[in-house]
Amino acid sequence: MKYLFQFLLCTSIIHLNYAGSCDEFESVTRHQWKSKVFRPRAQMVLAAENVFIHHSKEKTCWNLEECSERARLLEYRHIKLYRFLDFGYNFMIGGDGRVYEGRGWKRFGAHTTGFNYDIGILFLGNFDDYRPPKRMIETAKSLLECGRERGVLQPGYSVYGHRDVGCTSCPGRYLYSEITRWRQYARAKYLAINCYAQYRIY
Ligand SMILES: [Zn+2]
Repeated sequence: MKYLFQFLLCTSIIHLNYAGSCDEFESVTRHQWKSKVFRPRAQMVLAAENVFIHHSKEKTCWNLEECSERARLLEYRHIKLYRFLDFGYNFMIGGDGRVYEGRGWKRFGAHTTGFNYDIGILFLGNFDDYRPPKRMIETAKSLLECGRERGVLQPGYSVYGHRDVGCTSCPGRYLYSEITRWRQYARAKYLAINCYAQYRIY
């Protein structure tokens, strides 16, 4: 009986210590990457249905210092030059495999015209020129699962590339080809919105 009790205690401690996908990557908060402005927007009440993947179309960064600098530069552009109310994306993923916080979960963004009530994730790098490193992909997948486990993404959430709903090459041909192999990728739903249609309208 004593051994049975010890066994149950151990297994329950192991269970309590396992926090799931949210523990599988390292997050860098805005405070940690020395964000200059943080103006949280309205919170989303419902869990997000879609996730849009983007790339920065610039060289990637390989460590905390470089990626933090890249994040500050993007923040400057979004807020000072483009006059966004806050950083455009919900999250960024660095070449170092870390998640750099933008607006975070449950916040409206400024990343994908017509879909800013969904989650926008920016991969730092130019994936028209080279393949995304495996650690960036693994981090992105864990981040998405983390969102689902926390209930901030719907259980059947979908993943798209920016180009699926806008007239752009984003997120770059190599990253786009990668995400089209993900289980959650679901382009067909928004096929009606495409480059041709946009050009016809404008
Ligand atoms: Zn994009």
